[in-house]
Amino acid sequence: MSELHKFMFEGLPVRGMLVRLTGAWTDILQRREQAGGYPAAVQELLGEMTAAATLMQANIKFNGALVMQIMGDGPVKLAVAEVQPDLSLRATATVLGEVAADAPLSHMVNVNNTGRCAITLDPKDRQPGQQPYQGVVPLFGDRHEKLEKLSEVIEHYMLQSEQLDTRLVLAANDKVAAGLLIQRLPLQGEANLAGAGAVARDEDQIGLNEDYNRIAILAASLKREELLELDAETILRRLFWEEDLRRFEPLVGDEGPRFACTCSRERVSGMLRSLGRDEIESIIAEQGQVEVGCDFCGAQYRFDPVDAAQVFLQPHTQPPATPNLQ
Ligand SMILES: [Zn+2]
Repeated sequence: MSELHKFMFEGLPVRGMLVRLTGAWTDILQRREQAGGYPAAVQELLGEMTAAATLMQANIKFNGALVMQIMGDGPVKLAVAEVQPDLSLRATATVLGEVAADAPLSHMVNVNNTGRCAITLDPKDRQPGQQPYQGVVPLFGDRHEKLEKLSEVIEHYMLQSEQLDTRLVLAANDKVAAGLLIQRLPLQGEANLAGAGAVARDEDQIGLNEDYNRIAILAASLKREELLELDAETILRRLFWEEDLRRFEPLVGDEGPRFACTCSRERVSGMLRSLGRDEIESIIAEQGQVEVGCDFCGAQYRFDPVDAAQVFLQPHTQPPATPNLQ
């Protein structure tokens, strides 16, 4: 069963999380099987993205979707993993062209060093016209060297957006997508007392906290095979047996990570409306109907000429999307 474990290091400014997606991940892959599935390297990338996005969503207190996107300049044009606050999730990738089974990250999404990774936080109660928050990082390091690990890209993002040291270990195959996150906590107590001065001191702590550094090195010693094959108890015991770990109740089942698609006929109608009447009428003239497939779950939405005309009727009386359709 897919599960998420949260833990803290007693008395130290360090926390961690371990996610193991099994059913949630194989559901995503099964939805793609009809379309031929993903090349092995793309499967690994998308699995790592899904695990990382789950860790990031669970790590923040935010009432809205966390969307991780890689806009690639290679055969993988787009890869998306989206996680809701209740940890329901979905993911998809658009692949045009051949991808070798052992293709490194740069060969898939960063051939010319212009690939990017975007993290979007889209609030549930977003007002019309309000933009979601988005942070974008390149897929290269400080010296413009191409990064070959998704974990390095995300660590870079976390440092940039939160000014916090983060260590990530990610792995995925056709059965499991998993990740371990270790993060240094901000000096909250001092910040409350000293205000802005403490924030500056906290930034000075980047890379310098010995407890964090020791635990991050332990975390980085976790091998890909171990992360994929061992259960959470074994991994945490083996890595941190000398540390005083405080565990929290794991999130599993209905409270844990699971596949769910947020697509709906209402949303597709809204998308058609935004394309405009002329565009839709020309598709109908050509194909007799409009057919839209959901890339995440494979659902097909068909609009015959009557349905399509209705999309443009009374646009203002369209019922607002209800929470369970978002
Ligand atoms: Zn869908």
